[in-house]
Amino acid sequence: MPTYEFRCRECATTYEVKRPMAEASDPAPCPGGHTDTVKLLSVVSVATGGGAPSAGGGGGCCGGACGCG
Ligand SMILES: [Zn+2]
Repeated sequence: MPTYEFRCRECATTYEVKRPMAEASDPAPCPGGHTDTVKLLSVVSVATGGGAPSAGGGGGCCGGACGCG
């Protein structure tokens, strides 16, 4: 379930709310009970595929040691 970040305009509290995407734009009262809140950028925790680019990896046949080039 994605997490959405809200900010209360009355007490300036920033808080996160876990809710289904269907209710993403619904108003969410702040922990202090205020309802004058605004939704900040969506914080969607989605695992990104792919790994980090691996540096190096040389040392093959054409590494220079065998003189195949
Ligand atoms: Zn508040």
